[in-house]
Amino acid sequence: MVCIEKIYSVSALVGAGVCNANCSFCAGKYLRPQAKDNPIYWKNLEAAIKLSARYGGWSLSLTSSGEVTCDPDSLTKALRVYQKCANEGAYFPNVNLFTNGILFGEESFCNKYLDNWRELGLTNVAVSVHDVDEKKQAQVYNVKNYPRFEKIKENIEEHGLGMRCTLLLRKGGVDNSAKYESSVKTLLDKGLGNITSWPVGNPDGTKNEFTPSWFGLFGIKRWLNKNAKLCHGHSWGGGVYDYHGNILRITDYVTKHDPKKDFVRQLVVFQDGAVDYSWIKEGALCMK
Ligand code: SF4
Repeated sequence: MVCIEKIYSVSALVGAGVCNANCSFCAGKYLRPQAKDNPIYWKNLEAAIKLSARYGGWSLSLTSSGEVTCDPDSLTKALRVYQKCANEGAYFPNVNLFTNGILFGEESFCNKYLDNWRELGLTNVAVSVHDVDEKKQAQVYNVKNYPRFEKIKENIEEHGLGMRCTLLLRKGGVDNSAKYESSVKTLLDKGLGNITSWPVGNPDGTKNEFTPSWFGLFGIKRWLNKNAKLCHGHSWGGGVYDYHGNILRITDYVTKHDPKKDFVRQLVVFQDGAVDYSWIKEGALCMK
């Protein structure tokens, strides 16, 4: 029998599940019916953070079945839970908010919330990038305009938070090594030097019509191995690379829980209050 030695991180779905975008490939929609206020959820969020911290976890990801910034009060409440945990010793050096970035183009939104969220423990804002051209990014999100990436960065950094990019790998978008390289270079030119990528797919880890081809993904990994220096590999696949002093990270969208392994990539706190060892719920129950 294998005992769990490490729980690397916690991902929590936060908020009402509404979104200010409307993407054709949205994988969060199926979880939205669960997004109702639920006292068990808050209790289990606290328990999951404490459990991961006790097993050497170092990262908390705040995400949503919609866009988390569209329900800022729920995010504040989740960060208050985290702050309580941190004060009791369950501290994570990385507390990341995952967002489509639309509201971070507005100074008034940033002025209203970001200082408070930073004081409650938020460290980074990870903005999803489907296209480095803002006009094309707006088309993907089905919105009229998308703010300039430089403006988003300025607004976030002004409040003492770091900006990261989640450069998503999607068929028809960034789906091969040439597009990956040119997108990375454009983001670096815009001053964005912390870039994580994974292929979009189904929440159960299977591929769908939006997942790039095996050949395209293989080309991106080969490009990274040839052009960047591996800093460390992830136990669940992929790793972190140094590219001229910038961070390029490649990983998978989800990892299936393997009870024979002695680590858990992440505890996922779902909005029905369940905590699972993976986004793929079957065979991964942790708390209910
Ligand atoms: S921004 Fe995210 S949550 Fe909103 S529609 Fe697009 S994929 Fe779905």
